[in-house]
Amino acid sequence: MDVKLVPTICPYCGCGCGLNLVVKDGKVVGVEPWKRHPVNEGKLCPKGNFAHEFIHRDDRLTTPLIKKNGKFEPATWDEALSLIASKFKEIKSKYGPDAMACFASARVTNEENYLMQKFARVALETANIDHCARLCHGTTVAGLAKSLGSGAMTNSIKDIEEAKTIFIIGSNTFEDHPLIARRVVRAKQAGATLIVADPRFNMTAKQADIYVQFRSGSDVALINAMMYVILSEGLEDKEFIKNRTKGFDALKEEVMKCPPEWAEPITGVPADTIRKIARLYATNKPSAIIYSMGVTQHSTGTDNVLSMSNLAMLTGNIGKRGSGVNPLRGQNNVQGACDMGALPNVVTGYQAVINPELRAKVCGVWGVKDIPGKVGLTIVEVMNAAEEGKVKSLYIMGENPMISDPDVNHVEHALKKLEFLVVQDIFMTETAALAHVVLPAASFAEKDGTFTNTERRVQLLRPAVKPPGQAKPDWEIICLLAQKMGVKGFDFKSQEEVFEEIRKVTPQYAGMTYERLRKPEALHWPCPDTSHPGTPILHMAKFSHPDGLGIFFGVPFKYQAERPDAEYPLILTTGRILFHYHTGSMTRRSPTLDNEVKTGFVEINTEDAKALGVKDGDKVKVKTRRGEIEIAARVTPNIMKGIIFIPFHFVECAANRLTIAALDPFAKMPEFKVCAAKVEPI
Ligand code: SF4
Repeated sequence: MDVKLVPTICPYCGCGCGLNLVVKDGKVVGVEPWKRHPVNEGKLCPKGNFAHEFIHRDDRLTTPLIKKNGKFEPATWDEALSLIASKFKEIKSKYGPDAMACFASARVTNEENYLMQKFARVALETANIDHCARLCHGTTVAGLAKSLGSGAMTNSIKDIEEAKTIFIIGSNTFEDHPLIARRVVRAKQAGATLIVADPRFNMTAKQADIYVQFRSGSDVALINAMMYVILSEGLEDKEFIKNRTKGFDALKEEVMKCPPEWAEPITGVPADTIRKIARLYATNKPSAIIYSMGVTQHSTGTDNVLSMSNLAMLTGNIGKRGSGVNPLRGQNNVQGACDMGALPNVVTGYQAVINPELRAKVCGVWGVKDIPGKVGLTIVEVMNAAEEGKVKSLYIMGENPMISDPDVNHVEHALKKLEFLVVQDIFMTETAALAHVVLPAASFAEKDGTFTNTERRVQLLRPAVKPPGQAKPDWEIICLLAQKMGVKGFDFKSQEEVFEEIRKVTPQYAGMTYERLRKPEALHWPCPDTSHPGTPILHMAKFSHPDGLGIFFGVPFKYQAERPDAEYPLILTTGRILFHYHTGSMTRRSPTLDNEVKTGFVEINTEDAKALGVKDGDKVKVKTRRGEIEIAARVTPNIMKGIIFIPFHFVECAANRLTIAALDPFAKMPEFKVCAAKVEPI
């Protein structure tokens, strides 16, 4: 009997836990802990424990498919790639490159994201390249880059244990990032105080020493009021402000308009509670902020993120062990997909496309004269342009916007208007079903390459088995397509070769090699040269702006784009649950996980449910101005009165049929976390 353990990285959340795939007779039959792995130290959450269950499913895509007369028919790779190459060329010459767009993915490797953005910019000559970080942490990248000079988690996962105060806001860490939650528990065991601010009394809130139930969308009001208390009571870190920052006067002017009594009716948090947590955060140091999509997924998401930086810099809680501003990324490679420039405003290494010198440097390595020097369209803008008939073709790798994007009815309409849609994935997703050509990709267990986790740790995958049928790794498919189109610069033989090119054009990755990444601890970026040990904590001596200073921004509070009214009196907020991941294409095909939670639900506050005549388990209709769904009610006192919550994983009661595509003006992030809704008993 041939049994081996293949160490690799979990395909799910941004923790980036190490696990061993158990391979028997050429099949992955289980998962074993990777005991020496520095992130999870041999522990896994349920998703990681059952990460093998979808790999050998019978419904994996195994051959290219071309739609003929409304039905998919199997095709050879040559037929499929020839068709795509000729259609892309035809659309480019007929409508121009602005009519084309590509979506990369936070679920595939750095190398594959790098190649997708290079393909968009070089082969299609379009600026329209984006990926799903736009829908989760686009505002983190924008906000932290503006304030700190680098759009990434400042400290490491292990470092959370060093904090004396942990302020978790808008993150259900214990459910969505369980192996980071372990570090929070360890910090608490060592005496740290945990503050959790969230509209739901969720798994994380239950562990809090101080729970702050606040209204979705009122983050800026809450943080400004905390900073008002800190400044009024002289608790700010004057030395840090003087030596390490600029813009303090603008911050002070704004914050001093926001006493806790002003914030109380906006946030729903008693003024005394705001005072208490402000004092604790400012004085019981080091203090770490942990946040996630409760902060980012708003039309004011960039403002919310700037507020996190303001609070940390005001109290000197950054650039030190146990402190920092720590966004937790949802998918396993959100950080890496951003690092690789799968974004419309920057190429790899966050180098602005509008900067001709930076472009020239990258083009020199790519062997091309130039690439588009304008900022392209973001995901929601691509959908809008498709509906308007301006975008004609879309190439999607590993994403499922038919469930993940806001206002899905609109998305469906837009995708159906495209002249040509190509989807590359491991399963026939709801989006792939609308495609003209579907390409079968390899899963995480069938390839190497690198993922970068939420703490900027770049880690190596190892292939355990071969892809099923004719499926191929995404990097190989992109290279074959580029070659079919006659485009030079895509003749890579391995992901390691791609990584070697990445190092030449991505300053943060320059000192990394596959050889160095084979060690379990791998490397945190920035790692500028091959003798550099990597950087687990950012901003220790200076911030990442050219002058080394952090920048305060005075952020006025703004209400969300759509507020409750007489017709739609409730606030709908959306999110994830422990047993499922993103659009469910993998977890809903994993029997153990699927058995735990079979379908979606809407959480309704007990008093709201009573007023509506709704009992726990009743089927209800949830309606917004964009659509309606039928879903089971989960009646609970754990959610704030006036707010309802729906997890977004389930196509049969898709939360995103209801959400609004109102955008943050800087990061173009849709407002998943707040829209006006009503519930009707059926
Ligand atoms: Fe995988 Fe995240 Fe669970 Fe770790 S915490 S096992 S990375 S899903």
